[in-house]
Amino acid sequence: MNPIVENYRAVRQRLDAAALEANRDPAEIELLAVSKTFPIEAIQTLYEFGVRAFGESRIPELEAKKMVLPDDITWHFIGQLQANKARKAIKLAGVIHSVDSEALLERLDRIAGEEGKKPRILLEVNVSGEQSKTGFPLSLVENAARRALRCENLDFAGFMTMAPAEAEPIKIAAIFEALSLSRDELERKLECKLPILSMGMSGDFEIAARHGSTLVRVGTQIFGVRPKMVR
Ligand SMILES: *Cc1c(COP(=O)(O)O)cnc(C)c1O
Repeated sequence: MNPIVENYRAVRQRLDAAALEANRDPAEIELLAVSKTFPIEAIQTLYEFGVRAFGESRIPELEAKKMVLPDDITWHFIGQLQANKARKAIKLAGVIHSVDSEALLERLDRIAGEEGKKPRILLEVNVSGEQSKTGFPLSLVENAARRALRCENLDFAGFMTMAPAEAEPIKIAAIFEALSLSRDELERKLECKLPILSMGMSGDFEIAARHGSTLVRVGTQIFGVRPKMVR
């Protein structure tokens, strides 16, 4: 079997096991293959195995890949999104994980209306408060969520976060737990459904699965080491 397919299956198995440990149904957790920096052929290999969703973090790269790959792939945009790339993101991606400001939210809503689209969006939350990370601090998430719910052209479905790369497992668990709890609270308070929690990467997806994640974003554990660090 192709090594990429083998890796994908191994990650899926570890994910299922972690879900079961936490008494969760593994089917509740989507495995998103993060293909950024990896070649078209690698994506094709997984496509042939049946995978239909891929994550990319740069608009030009997403555009180039989407052009040559089958139309039934759902592209997830997971990188930082600049205002001037918002229209391209709307045209190319079915899901945008990285909405990190109210200005971007409003812009995406307006452009989605103009393009006749209704993309799924997630608000990115900076739970740990790390200076280097983008996203809403937890204290501003309620306001942002209220605004997102009013965006008629966006399907606001939940939240995304990244844990600090070097933190201990117990701290990472606390970060995922905090976002999960704050999602539960907002669902009650705002009387809405926010089913998606995009949490967990190659280094911490099992912790995420035990702490409420419904979508893990895994790159290197599936495709191998990236040529250079790309967010
Ligand atoms: C690159 C990236 C990932 C995947 O990272 P790996 O450690 O390779 O699994 C997940 N989420 C975001 C936002 C990323 O930029």
